[in-house]
Amino acid sequence: MNIASRLSRRRLGFFPTPIVELNRLAALAKGPKLLMKRDDQTGLGLGGNKTRKLEFLMADALSRGADTVITAGAEQSNHCRQTAAAAAACSLECHLVLGGSPPSQPGGNLLLDLLFGAHIHWAGDHRKGEDCLLLVEQLKSNGRNPYMIPYGGSCAIGAAGFATAVEEVCNQLHSAAAEITHVVFASSSGGTQAGLMTGCRRYCPEIQVIGIDIDKGAGEETPFDEHILDLANQTTALLGAGQHFSQKDVVLCSDYLGDGYGVVGQLERRAISLTARLEGILLDPVYTGRAMGGLLDLIGKGYFTADDTVLFWHTGGTPALFAYADKLQPDGE
Ligand SMILES: *Cc1c(COP(=O)(O)O)cnc(C)c1O
Repeated sequence: MNIASRLSRRRLGFFPTPIVELNRLAALAKGPKLLMKRDDQTGLGLGGNKTRKLEFLMADALSRGADTVITAGAEQSNHCRQTAAAAAACSLECHLVLGGSPPSQPGGNLLLDLLFGAHIHWAGDHRKGEDCLLLVEQLKSNGRNPYMIPYGGSCAIGAAGFATAVEEVCNQLHSAAAEITHVVFASSSGGTQAGLMTGCRRYCPEIQVIGIDIDKGAGEETPFDEHILDLANQTTALLGAGQHFSQKDVVLCSDYLGDGYGVVGQLERRAISLTARLEGILLDPVYTGRAMGGLLDLIGKGYFTADDTVLFWHTGGTPALFAYADKLQPDGE
């Protein structure tokens, strides 16, 4: 039985997403076999990992009779863009609390937020939803019934989407008679990692789940790996999966934070360029570019053996490429 069968789900995306082989990148890296899970192709508002969370979050919002959803993120938040698309598909009003101030020319994800009809509230240096509760109260006093989706959609209900994703992968690998030893992906608000941990423990406990931390997260009360642990235990409790995780189960690599969240450096530029030129696949500047850069570096350091098979989970984010045009010009190699 599916691990999330006790939760309701509103279909919003195209699943299963394909798994492809990255043969040329693997040959260059001279390490393990490389596969990629194409969650950039989940289909909701140009795709990305938030589709999986939003299928459960929107079902919850609708079951509570919400007429409005509120969430928060950075100006180029993929989560906000996909929430705006999901809200449009479910006929709900969408309010986004975005870090920063209005740019003169909206591009990338922000342009798409506006096309989806989202209401934007600019929050200066509060890009993680610090101002959401205030907005909830305001909307309530205007007679709305808002549903608040946490930063990144990372609560147990959202993470359930990634617990079910593991079943999807296991079915795909089974029909292809293939096996994997590791899953590697960009980790930032923790829902993806908590969900993958919960799903892997249930369906394929031998697989190692490795999050590449992409956000230094200054000023948070709880260190990020403890937050992931809490969330994984909340997710397994919500699903009645009967597991318990301890800190050693959280594998989080924080060596690739560079100059901070969303700052593109040589690591990201090289990973984006190699993946584009060798595989014809686009990564994004903030998350998957950094995570792939981290994976290539780990391969170079001998973290994996030649017998391993690593599944890189492409979590999406490609619309942000257009907002980072000036940081991504080919370096003429
Ligand atoms: C949100 C996001 C992530 C991180 O997922 P979390 O569940 O927030 O850790 C990774 N990649 C992309 C492209 C994202 O938009």
